[in-house]
Amino acid sequence: EEEGAVQVAVRMRIFNQREKDAGADRVIRMTREEVGSKTFIRNPDTDEEKEFKFDYSFNSHANDPNVGPYATQDSVFDDLGRPVLMSALEGRNVCLFAYGQTGAGKSFSMLGKSEPQTQQGIIPRTCREIFKVMDKDKGNPLISSEVAIQVVEIYCEQINDLLADRKTWPPAGFKPKMTKDGFACDTITKPCMNYEDIEQAFSFADKNRSVGSHALNPESSRAHTIYQITYQRKSKISADAKQCETVTTRLNLVDLAGSERMESAGTSGQMLKEGNAINLSLTALGNTIKALSEGKRAQFRESKLTLLLQSSMTNGKVIMIAAVSPASICYDESISTLRFAERIKMVKIKAKKNVTLDP
Ligand code: ADP
Ligand code: MG
Repeated sequence: EEEGAVQVAVRMRIFNQREKDAGADRVIRMTREEVGSKTFIRNPDTDEEKEFKFDYSFNSHANDPNVGPYATQDSVFDDLGRPVLMSALEGRNVCLFAYGQTGAGKSFSMLGKSEPQTQQGIIPRTCREIFKVMDKDKGNPLISSEVAIQVVEIYCEQINDLLADRKTWPPAGFKPKMTKDGFACDTITKPCMNYEDIEQAFSFADKNRSVGSHALNPESSRAHTIYQITYQRKSKISADAKQCETVTTRLNLVDLAGSERMESAGTSGQMLKEGNAINLSLTALGNTIKALSEGKRAQFRESKLTLLLQSSMTNGKVIMIAAVSPASICYDESISTLRFAERIKMVKIKAKKNVTLDP
């Protein structure tokens, strides 16, 4: 068992068209320190700069040393994704989530663009790497391994299986259940033989989402999407190959709904309902993390999001990517994201390895 702090990374994106049209001013800069990094945000009214310390500060805004060390999709994966994957491959649960206002770059960090490959995000890169590990084991008669995925969306406090046929969803009596690893629900677990299987399943899931149009970003989802990848590797280890070691890896990669408060998006009706549900679950996420950091009992039942993430939050590695806009017009949302990230950083979580020996 190993106790570690939650790792927190901040990532700043390029200006979007709306910000460019508004002649937006950049209020964020970053520096790399001997240990960790710093993110500075300037209040556009007072010009006062506030400093935040994080594990990583990724400047994906401009290749300009005054803004900070430049980070591509490649370097974000190398700095953050790869170590997380390595830790997961040793059998630790991993929960990596992207937080931030709509349009800040959460999905770009998690999924990225499918073409060209250099623009792909952490999720497709992680999946490719897992199959690389499996390829190395191929032909070794002592090792057998398998990969399976689940894709689930939480929309208005309802869990939707994005790999299921939505016409028959939810099935009668559907409810998340308590298992020895925490909560789980009967959603489709799809075995994947290769990367193409995963790609196909993700693309199916993507078309299956409850996309709501939104004033800030019409493409953005008002739901949380959880991509769960399970990898299991069985190896016969003793001299006579009678003893079998099983390492189970569960990665929860979460693309959260936008964290902005509803007012900024001109909300009513269904959107208000969406906004309330998002506020509820993000508040619950913050509350459980706060309780964990204070050694108090966390109330995971407050929301579906915390319920589903319970096992990886109490036993596992938790990593947060806080996505921020560079622009002065987003100052309020960006500073609230940085404050949330700062609180998350205080949490310490035990991560034990899921390794069993049989017999
Ligand atoms: P979110 O998921 O937080 O709502 P997105 O990830 O969809 O935001 O990002 C909004 C837009 O900005 C998308 O068109 C995306 O491709 C683009 N974008 C975000 N981050 C970057 C980046 N670091 N470099 C280039 N484009 C980016
Ligand atoms: Mg998104």
